[in-house]
Parts: sequence; C-alpha cells; structure tokens
Amino acid sequence: MIIKKIIAKEVKNSRGEKTIQVLIKTPKANFFASSPSGKSIGKYEVNPYNKSLIHDINFINNLNVNKINNLFKTKLKNKPNNFSLKVEDIFTLLKNLESLIKNKLGGNSLFALESSLLKALAKENNKQLFEFLYGKKIKNIKIRLIGNAIGGGLHSKGINNQKPDYQEFLFIPKEKTIKENAEVNDTVYKLSRKVLKARKRNDENALETNFNNEQILEIMNGIKNKYKKNIDIGIDLASSSFYKNGKYYYKNPTTKFNSKEQINYVNKLIKKYNLFYIEDPLNENDFSGFSKLLKQVRKTDNCLIVGDDLTATNPKRLKKAIKNKSINAVIVKPNQIGSLLKVKEVIEVAKKHNIKTIISHRSGETFDNTIADLAVAFEADFIKTGIYGKERKSKLNRLIEIEKMLKKKI
Ligand code: PEP
Ligand code: MG
Repeated sequence: MIIKKIIAKEVKNSRGEKTIQVLIKTPKANFFASSPSGKSIGKYEVNPYNKSLIHDINFINNLNVNKINNLFKTKLKNKPNNFSLKVEDIFTLLKNLESLIKNKLGGNSLFALESSLLKALAKENNKQLFEFLYGKKIKNIKIRLIGNAIGGGLHSKGINNQKPDYQEFLFIPKEKTIKENAEVNDTVYKLSRKVLKARKRNDENALETNFNNEQILEIMNGIKNKYKKNIDIGIDLASSSFYKNGKYYYKNPTTKFNSKEQINYVNKLIKKYNLFYIEDPLNENDFSGFSKLLKQVRKTDNCLIVGDDLTATNPKRLKKAIKNKSINAVIVKPNQIGSLLKVKEVIEVAKKHNIKTIISHRSGETFDNTIADLAVAFEADFIKTGIYGKERKSKLNRLIEIEKMLKKKI
C-alpha cells in the first residue's frame, strides 16, 4: 500500500465539541476515521490529546509519509502486489507505527490515526475491516446490544433541576439477531418516552427526566413485562461522579452512603429490580469495594459487575481488577487508551479470565463506525452504543449490515 497523504483536521462531535478526524489518501481511495469524546472521563484514561488538539493535528500533518510507507514496505517486501496480510502482520505494523510516534499523540488522535490506516489496509486487501482484523472466516455474531434509554448524572440537565443520580439506564434485549435487538431497543425507547412523558434528550440522546433512580427501574421493569420481550435491565452508575472523600452523595432523594452502605444498596437494587448489568457501582479506585459487591452478587444473582472508569481500557488496571476479583465484565473504549494494540490486549486478557467484554461508544460521538467492526473482529460479548441519534445508529446499522453479509455467505 502506498499512502499519498495523511491529513488531520478538527471536526465536531454530536455535542458540537471539537474532535479529530484523520484522512488517509491512497491511490485507491480516501479513508476517514474520527474519534469520539467522553464527558464522564475516568482519572486513569490517557489524555485525549497530547498538549492540545492543535498540537496533535500538526503532529499528524507533519508525519513523514515516506517513513510510514517504509513500515509497510519492509513488512510487505516479497509481496508488493495483491498481498494478503495476516492478523499478526497487521498488529506488528501498528506496533512499528506506535514506536515511530513515541507517545507523542493523545488517545483520541492515535485511535483516529490507527483506525484510518486499518480501513485503508483492509481495502487494499479487498476485505471488510472486521474480516481483515479477524483473519478467519466469521460464521455468525453473537454480540448483544446495550441501549441507553434514560439518562441522569453528568450527562443530563434533568427537569427543573431534578434528575436521576445514575448516569445511564440501559435496556439489553436478548432476541436472536442484532436487527431484532435494535428494533426492541427502538420500541422500549419509545415506550419509555411515553411513560416518562419525556420531551427532551440529554447530551448522549437518552431521555431526560426528573424521576429518581428507583422510580425509573420500576418503570423499566413495567415496560419489560408489558412488552413481553426477552430483555435484561442495567445501569451505569458512573459513581466516581458523585463520590467525594469516602462518601457517595445522592441528590434525588438526598442521602449519603459510605462504601459499605453503597455496596449494600446496590446489592439491594440488583435483587429488587432483577438487574443484569451494573457499571461503575463504586469509585474508580475502589478495587476492593468492587470485589466485595461481586462476592455478594455471585452467591445468588446472575449479574455483571462492570468496570469502566475503574479499568480505563488499560491492561495493567484490568489485570489488577482480575487479581482482586473486582469485576466479571469490562468496558472497552478505544480512545480511553488510544492504541488498538492495547485494546486487543485488554480483550485477550479479559477473555482468558472469563471476563465479559463490552465495546463502548463515548457520550460525544461521531459518525465513525469503527467500533462496530472492532466488536465483531474481537468477538466482544456486548456493544454499548446507544439507541437514538444518527451517530449511534451509524454503529447499529453497520452491525446489521455485517450480520446481513454473514448470512448471505452461509
Ligand atoms: C460511560 O461512562 O460509559 C460513557 C459512555 O460516558 P463518557 O463517554 O462520557 O465517558
Ligand atoms: Mg461508564
């Protein structure tokens, strides 16, 4: 593959904030990738940019394209035309690229650069991105959708200054296909809007409400029972956002819990509302609190205790969480770490230890749908990519398209 140009520029995400887009020009076509942005950003994520967005844009625009082309040439020495790269080769290329860059880019910029390069390479190999990264024939996909229907916490304004304390109320349908599951999520979203009489959406397109956490869980169970579909229910508490000096401060209704009380309360919610998925129930440093909760939950419930801010898509933090038996599922947000090599490592380590994997969007999204291909190629168990809005639909539609392509081949 010959890269003619690499061009980085500023684009806007779904919240109107600035983010980075990278364009790779080859004789075949132009390949774009862009990065989303988080708002409830974990303390242990890498910075989205090294110094600033402008710094990273300039750095990418000043990259020596010949040097990058040489990385490919060396690897492809004996197969200049019509080559077919193996998965190991692809990741060796990324490794060489990352050594060339020497940590001079932030997470958003590195993710956009690597994604655009992979899209170009996949095309050069006449493959879809997911096929290219998987390396073998994929027969079917078993990814379940996690859809954020109702919002609170940092992502929401609420109504008359009142909102749920937890950040995301999630429907996780369990029908056979991605297409059916996406339809179920559309329906439960509409039903939620009706029951809540919601008129506004928050900054990641979940419904705004002044109902509190427990009222919402009651409503979600009501919807599930009435609709009679196979649906699980979950929450992202994003609890670091309301934690300070050993206490969790609730506003709706006002109360405060220490770590032990928070664990007992979450455990009670799991049982009372039959919850299947609990993300960041404790603050991002509390590996032992997570493990106390998981131990309680394991005794009686089938519930995922999920690390997001706790693990920050960082292999070292994931290994610590595994050692401490803190979680049985992990969120994977590529731009929390930037490097797709590390993303792959996080997923491999998780799988090795029976930890479920959830590839996730960010609250401020773009139309880029690379995470859909990554979820398929890395055989993620779940994808969390919202329900409503063009940026979220772009990932869901890509998954439905992949599902259709795979069906045709069987
Ligand atoms: C999350 O916390 O899971 C999330 C999607 O939010 P953000 O992208 O703001 O970190
Ligand atoms: Mg989260």
